[in-house]
Amino acid sequence: MNIELSGPDISQAEIDAVADVLRSGRLSLGPAVPRFEEAISKYVGTKHAIAVSSGTCGLHLLVRAVGLQPGDEAISTPFSFVASSNCILFEGGKPVFVDMDPETWNIDASALESAVTSKTKLLIPVNVFGQPADFDRINACARKHSLRVIEDSCESLGAKYNGRMSGSLGDAGVFGFYPNKQITTGEGGMIVTNDDEIARLCQSMRNQGRDTGMSWLSHERLGYNYRLSDVSCAIGAVQVQRIEEILGKRRRVAGWYRERLATEQRISFQKIEPNCEMSWFVFVIKLADSYSEADRASMIEKLRARGIGCSNYFAPIHLQAFYKRQFGYKPGDFPVCERIAARTIALPFHNHLTESEVDQVCETLRSLL
Ligand SMILES: *Cc1c(COP(=O)(O)O)cnc(C)c1O
Repeated sequence: MNIELSGPDISQAEIDAVADVLRSGRLSLGPAVPRFEEAISKYVGTKHAIAVSSGTCGLHLLVRAVGLQPGDEAISTPFSFVASSNCILFEGGKPVFVDMDPETWNIDASALESAVTSKTKLLIPVNVFGQPADFDRINACARKHSLRVIEDSCESLGAKYNGRMSGSLGDAGVFGFYPNKQITTGEGGMIVTNDDEIARLCQSMRNQGRDTGMSWLSHERLGYNYRLSDVSCAIGAVQVQRIEEILGKRRRVAGWYRERLATEQRISFQKIEPNCEMSWFVFVIKLADSYSEADRASMIEKLRARGIGCSNYFAPIHLQAFYKRQFGYKPGDFPVCERIAARTIALPFHNHLTESEVDQVCETLRSLL
């Protein structure tokens, strides 16, 4: 048995689109970039979409665009992929963590207020595993304290919150297109926003600080090369055309898992709020609290030995070596995050999984519980 943890869904149309770009001779700054951007802005319903070379680059540009200064504080969750708080460090800001909600696994929005200080400038909620965070509460807190909100929507393309599309829930959002995400461009990301000023700054900063119409060697501000190539954008534009098919397949696989594991008392799932429509990014289970972190490690090892790809999503950010060194974090600082992160297992999840493979994964998992 060999069941991969994840994998992209690439059809002949993406392959043809790449070949077209290669034959065209325009490999960068060509027509595929606006084609992909327009497809995303239309799908998400935002005025602007700006393609960048990764989700991490997109987060970095947004943190600069909202003007975070060295020493400013930004609030985020410790239960995430490390990039969602690294982007604060890139600009010399201080990440302040608020522990996660034990049910939804998103930042506990009811605890935000108590983390706000006179130095707080920014909130970076993460839509964990494809479920939007509690944006009504998050935006209310932001309004009250005049904070900016960057939605880390890297895992939630296509998700909805009270009927509104993920990516459009804060001042700006970012999607990531690494091959395990809902749609992929190999590497890549997309900033989305309705804010003209944020869009203008991000467009300039991704392209070496040039403003529109400026010559190649004129630079209005500090910039980067965070552009996404036409080859990548051509793949992305086709993936967006196929988005309903892709998300539908993922929903079906998640349904198979939930059905088969529903009655299993020794594991639980992320709670999906009734006002949220999930866009399935990964399929993660949580072992009961009676299991230890060592039990989880041995279970992952045994699943892998049986050819089942799996992983320990997420490892708490505050316990990463350099966060501990720089900020003095220690075990016990964010107990909900630590309890859950020690017991989660991401199971194989991608569009090519068959129902019988899901059966095999569930049977093997059960036999190891
Ligand atoms: C994937 C992801 C990112 C961005 O990752 P890149 O590999 O830089 O595209 C950012 N935040 C979260 C929560 C992610 O899952």
